[in-house]
Amino acid sequence: MSSWQGRNVTVAGLGVSGLSAARALAGLGAVVTVVDGGDGEAQRARAEELAGTGISVRLGDAETLPDGTDLVVTSPGWKPSSPLFAAAAAAGVDVVGDVEIAWRLRGPDAAPWLAVTGTNGKTTTTRMLASILGAAGLRTAAVGNIGTPIIDVVLDAEPYDVLAVELSSYQLHWAPSLRAHSAAVLNLAPDHLDWHGSMEAYAADKGRIYEGNQIACVYNVDAIDKPSTEDLVREADVEEGCRAIGFTLNAPAPSQLGVVDGILVDRAFVPDRQKQAQELAEISDVRPPAPHNIANALAAAALARAYGVPATAVRDGLRAFSPDAHRIEHVADVDGVAYIDDSKATNTHAAQASLASYESIVWIAGGLAKGATFDDLVADAAARLKGVVLIGADRALIREALVRHAPQVPVVDLGRTDTGAMSEAVRQAARLAGPGDTVLMAPACASMDMFTNYNKRGDAFAAAVRELGASA
Ligand code: ADP
Repeated sequence: MSSWQGRNVTVAGLGVSGLSAARALAGLGAVVTVVDGGDGEAQRARAEELAGTGISVRLGDAETLPDGTDLVVTSPGWKPSSPLFAAAAAAGVDVVGDVEIAWRLRGPDAAPWLAVTGTNGKTTTTRMLASILGAAGLRTAAVGNIGTPIIDVVLDAEPYDVLAVELSSYQLHWAPSLRAHSAAVLNLAPDHLDWHGSMEAYAADKGRIYEGNQIACVYNVDAIDKPSTEDLVREADVEEGCRAIGFTLNAPAPSQLGVVDGILVDRAFVPDRQKQAQELAEISDVRPPAPHNIANALAAAALARAYGVPATAVRDGLRAFSPDAHRIEHVADVDGVAYIDDSKATNTHAAQASLASYESIVWIAGGLAKGATFDDLVADAAARLKGVVLIGADRALIREALVRHAPQVPVVDLGRTDTGAMSEAVRQAARLAGPGDTVLMAPACASMDMFTNYNKRGDAFAAAVRELGASA
């Protein structure tokens, strides 16, 4: 009999991960109730999908704990301060997330996890890692905060050798017993602080990924923010013999991966750590070959090498990898101007990476700032900006930073937050740009003031660029 038989589980949130947890646990014999604060058409449609499964759904109340609950399984979006969790704490009931459930449901011969987190670059790095593992002939999948819910993959009948697992800080917060084979924190910059409460709490949740690591804790040597990812490694309680492995865009020290004369090299997983440097791949094997993305490739390579993957598979996997849409995606050249969609740059740290990748830029920016400040970003990019077009709800914050740090740069403030504003933004950007310039849509803000999500924002940009091309 499964240990879930007859347990009363309350699932918080009727989204993709909530539905996956509810179905899996009900399948194992748990008595499942899904609660959701919404009571609109979308929730009712999803509740309908559960008809006949024996899973109960309670809509319109996200606060009270159903009687008899033994365990709460939360969706990532729910804040730790949610009243439901206070009610659970008062009743002495544990709250965990879908990753914790997946971890607990693994079979005895389950595939080890190579885990990736960071403020930016998680999806890219996890997919690069899966591509490298695949090139080594291993049965693998990119899972977690990507696509298929992790519980579904763990319960999948198909066997895997090793999993490339993307984890958000939310998922890590609610996954206390997770123990990865090896893990990487790519970078750490203020984001989602409204959820975590403070930078310290956010960093501590990210650092959880290193707890109990068996083989390697991979950290970013070049990061200057405090706490650094190396600080997080130092604070983690890892298995005996687990190594701290750095990655850097400079020449690597022993126990690091880095770059020498345009070649990605490994000085960590080599027979003689002091002398040898194993060549892995060329910078041109990484797409796009922007500095932040080379860092992602090095982190992916470090995790793959920790798992014992040969150098040739790193090169083949990186060559076979193509970036996801809306991440520094080249849309088209029109009249000698390159149009780049980096809609996924939903925070200043990501936008900073893409602004650092081009020389003469007309920047389309703005949206929901999520409490961010823009002074450092604008000061850093000022010399490369040829013009700026502002859209979205919080554009005034960026405009003010531009006045302070880049007063010479022409700014067009569209003063619009409607969906159609993107097409005008692209036309205005085209007016400011000349041959050799780059129009970069890297808004440094979330998209929900104007679009359903960053994909829709990127699609609107691409459509506007195509319109421009057709009329050129
Ligand atoms: P995540 O899954 O962490 O959101 P993505 O790989 O989807 O990360 O990339 C998100 C955004 O961050 C993109 O705009 C991308 O250009 C930028 N980015 C990717 N890797 C890095 C990095 N290592 N440092 C800073 N920004 C990055």
